[in-house]
Amino acid sequence: MFHNIKRTLIIMKLILQDVLQINSLAPPYSSTFTKIAFPVPEPPGVSNLPLFIYFDIDNRFTLAQQQWIRDAINGVLFQWFQHLTEKWNGGSNNGISQLATCTNLYATRNSRPTWYLSLPISNGLAATNIAMDQFTRLIRDNGFGLAPQAKIFSNILFPANSSTIFALTTLAQSQVPLSFIVNPAQLDSPGLNIKFLTGSMFHAWLHRAGFYHPKKSSHFIVECPMCIMRGFQIKRTITPDSFYIQFLD
Ligand SMILES: [Zn+2]
Repeated sequence: MFHNIKRTLIIMKLILQDVLQINSLAPPYSSTFTKIAFPVPEPPGVSNLPLFIYFDIDNRFTLAQQQWIRDAINGVLFQWFQHLTEKWNGGSNNGISQLATCTNLYATRNSRPTWYLSLPISNGLAATNIAMDQFTRLIRDNGFGLAPQAKIFSNILFPANSSTIFALTTLAQSQVPLSFIVNPAQLDSPGLNIKFLTGSMFHAWLHRAGFYHPKKSSHFIVECPMCIMRGFQIKRTITPDSFYIQFLD
């Protein structure tokens, strides 16, 4: 149970970071952090991007666990880059990405981020475009130092498989820190692969982009990452949604 109390304490700190925009965020346990950087790929048609985004990663992760986290963040950056490249469509900016095509088939609910006040979002395609544009903002705010420093906390829950990557749903559109909690026990699981973990990380970023759930089929924040986990394939009854949803928090 102690682990769950620690998680609650970390979540309280994440809320404080969101509200007070603070950088220094000590975990409720003894650990230090290392700053890691990720080169930002530049999709055509998108300017004013930082060269890197940065995270302070908890030194309690093993090197192998750190590598999983790095691969997952690179996976999210690649999906974002790929979507915008396909949408750019050689300059006409009217393309429909594989991610948007797949998501549009399945995401019919909760397409609106918390901060979004404009016209209703008509479908999963429009929601994917809005979400990926918001990722652009998250990347800019992180890379240009406009948002508080992104922290990656380590916490094993009880039961140990009950969470993979957790992030708060933000209410803000700008200066949102890309902070989250990763369960290291899940990173050691033999059933894990990079597609599942990228989907899980993508889901966490969608929370930081203002999307929320219930953790059920048909909601945008669940269907969009599941498309990544399935490699944009259509759903097959042999693998139920619940198999993928276990990696989403
Ligand atoms: Zn979630």
